[in-house]
Amino acid sequence: MTNRLVIVGAGQAGFALAAKMRALKDTRPITIIGAEESLPYQRPPLTKKYLLGEMSFDRLLFRPQHWYADNDVEIRLTTWVEQIKRDEKRVVMQDGSSLDYGTLVLATGSTPRRLPPSVGGDLDGVYVARDKRDADLLAGEMRAGRRALIIGGGYIGLEAAAVARHRGLEVTVIEMADRILQRVAAKATADIMRRIHQDHDVVIREKTGLKQLVGKNGRVVAAELSDGTTIDVDFVVVGIGVAPNDQLAKEAGLDVANGVVVDAFARSSDPSIYAVGDCAILLWDGGRARLESVQNAVDQAEAAAAIIGGGNEPYDPKPWFWSDQYDVKLQIAGFNLGYDETLFRAGAREGAASIWYFKAGKFIAVDAVNDAKAYVTGKKLLESGVQPDRAVLADPASDLKQLLGLMK
Ligand code: FAD
Repeated sequence: MTNRLVIVGAGQAGFALAAKMRALKDTRPITIIGAEESLPYQRPPLTKKYLLGEMSFDRLLFRPQHWYADNDVEIRLTTWVEQIKRDEKRVVMQDGSSLDYGTLVLATGSTPRRLPPSVGGDLDGVYVARDKRDADLLAGEMRAGRRALIIGGGYIGLEAAAVARHRGLEVTVIEMADRILQRVAAKATADIMRRIHQDHDVVIREKTGLKQLVGKNGRVVAAELSDGTTIDVDFVVVGIGVAPNDQLAKEAGLDVANGVVVDAFARSSDPSIYAVGDCAILLWDGGRARLESVQNAVDQAEAAAAIIGGGNEPYDPKPWFWSDQYDVKLQIAGFNLGYDETLFRAGAREGAASIWYFKAGKFIAVDAVNDAKAYVTGKKLLESGVQPDRAVLADPASDLKQLLGLMK
């Protein structure tokens, strides 16, 4: 019997877990198996500085090649894990090889939803943004004067729109819902971000879906929209959300419900199998949620590493997130799921603002637009559990420091 720790997925969470094991001086054998050809790298710059051409791929890598040898972490790239044989505690690769595990971690991430071929999703010039390859293909399309259609007004779509405008393209964003950022942010945040994009000459068409992409010689040339209009396009970016990579777990008979179901210790329904990052659905506020973020991938993986190493501390998520668009930094502390009230606060600087979310009277999250002070204050309040004084929040002349007065 082996005590080998096998990690499926060489992304943000898989790497963080291996690194934490070694930081905790755990010496058991570790193997990370990843489908991509690159060493583990960070994804956020793929629709930000990397796509803009302002950051080289080397700078995206968490660690250089020698780190893995130096830390006795085996890494197998371009390798797809096809099956988990739980009875034998073994994973089977696509090439038929297999590897025994003592503990298995699923860190398989998520996959962007694509458009079906029936609406032209398989035409050339239609992209998603998930990995290095996607970003490289997209970067090749970003030439001044060309026409980009972005389908989906979420963070990924809006970041791609900002890069395309920066590169001098004509950009249209279509969003099927009533407004952009509908799933992830309040109307006030969406209003600010819409204005910023419109100021940069992005055409934003809300309540507008895609009817059909039109191809010529196998490549997209136009898009028929749900309002009956047709626009000419040179390429399309599809940013309509992601689905967790939980197939492997499902086929192995683990509990799966829009993600691998885990407890507060990142443990799946099989006690020797853990799941971390985008692929896991965790306990949140009396229910379950998936947190698709760097914060969760790293913190949950590190918590799981401590547990695998013999610890007993549950993972208590403290979500935060960010999005960069043009020179605007949107920072989010907390998770606004189920909010029923928001409060707008104008920031001290021109263009700065924050939107504070409440659920049943309790402060749960803040979106800070170019307002680091609001972000830091919100984060500290959430960590301490202190409720902000709304009169102070609502008064733009007030100093947010007052809110922290009650904290130790
Ligand atoms: P991933 O990093 O996706 O890694 C999963 C890996 O597992 C992949 O390499 C995949 O190929 C591999 N894999 C899957 N199945 C198998 C298998 N069967 N066998 C072998 N390998 C397998 N988050 C933020 O907080 N802020 C941001 O600004 C932000 N921007 C983003 C921008 C982009 C373009 C993208 C794509 C994501 C962004 N995110 C951002 C989200 C963040 O990057 C993810 O939440 C994070 O990468 C999740 O880490 P993970 O390890 O769970 O998954």
